[in-house]
Amino acid sequence: MIEYKNVLTTCPYCGSGCAIHLQTLDGALVGVLPAKGHVISDGSLCIKGWNAHAFVNHPDRLKKPLIRKNGKLVEAEWDEALTLVAEKFGQIKAESGPDSIGFFSSAKCTNEENYILQKFARAVIGTNNIDHCARL
Ligand code: SF4
Repeated sequence: MIEYKNVLTTCPYCGSGCAIHLQTLDGALVGVLPAKGHVISDGSLCIKGWNAHAFVNHPDRLKKPLIRKNGKLVEAEWDEALTLVAEKFGQIKAESGPDSIGFFSSAKCTNEENYILQKFARAVIGTNNIDHCARL
C-alpha cells in the first residue's frame, strides 16, 4: 500500500510566507499544493512556489562547499571551506579595512539567519555594509 502525505509548511523561496503542502509518496517528496484558507496565500502560489519541491533531490544541487583550486572548483569539507573564508576575511580586513568587505543576505533565509548575518557584519567584521536581496 502506498503511503501518501500532505505536510503543511512555508514556501522557502521568498519572504511573502505563502503556505504550501509538500506531497510525499512513501516518504519521497513528489510535489506541492497550495494551502486553501491560509491568511497570506489562500490557495494561490507563484510559479516558484508551485515548484518549491524541485530543488530538493535535483542532481545539480550543491551539497558540499566548493573551493577553487588550480582554476577548478573542487568539493571540500565544511571545516576547510570555513577556515579558508575566515582567513580571507582576516587578510582583507587587515590589508584594506572592514569597509572593504560587504555582506548580502537572502529572502530565502529566516529572520533569525538574517539577524545573525547583520550581527556578524557589524560586531565581528566591523562594517555596516550589509544588504538584502529583497531590496533589488
Ligand atoms: S509562492 Fe511565490 S510569492 Fe509565495 S512565498 Fe513562494 S516564492 Fe514567495
